[in-house]
Amino acid sequence: MPSERTLVLVKPDGVQRGLIGPIITRLEQTGLKIIGLKIVQITDEMAAEHYAEHSERPFYAGLVGFITSGPVVAMAVSGPNAVAHVRRLMGATNPQDAAPGTIRGDLATDIGRNVVHGSANVEDGERELPIFFDESEIISYHRANGPWIIEP
Ligand code: UDP
Ligand code: MG
Repeated sequence: MPSERTLVLVKPDGVQRGLIGPIITRLEQTGLKIIGLKIVQITDEMAAEHYAEHSERPFYAGLVGFITSGPVVAMAVSGPNAVAHVRRLMGATNPQDAAPGTIRGDLATDIGRNVVHGSANVEDGERELPIFFDESEIISYHRANGPWIIEP
């Protein structure tokens, strides 16, 4: 399985609600590796770049207002098929459709307050990561228990 990198955000609602830890724990417990981590106040310019694909959508203004309304926790996450793995853990965009056991299914109730972002595909991940991280802030490292998580 190819190792991939993806961008995960604990959105401002997750930070305000004290869900940084529970969301990180859910990612970490799977064996996904956190290779970058910071708290960030997103600017209007960063939001426009991050959500460029949605700029014509009716929810765009609300989305940008929300994502800039308070700090987010940004993470670079790696692992086998990390993009799809994170998306499965997050659950459907609308928490009303998100399965129990997923982050959105368990921790959110409104599509406009869905607590977490994860890149949609590998290309989006590699486009989004530089909005939040300098390459020098992303750390490649081995874990002593690596072979207990991923079969060599
Ligand atoms: N969103 C919204 N209303 C909609 C669709 C999306 O408020 O009708 C918000 C929602 O917070 C979502 C974000 O816009 O997480 C980006 O939408 P996307 O379709 O990329 O969903 P995601 O990739 O976050 O699951
Ligand atoms: Mg998306």
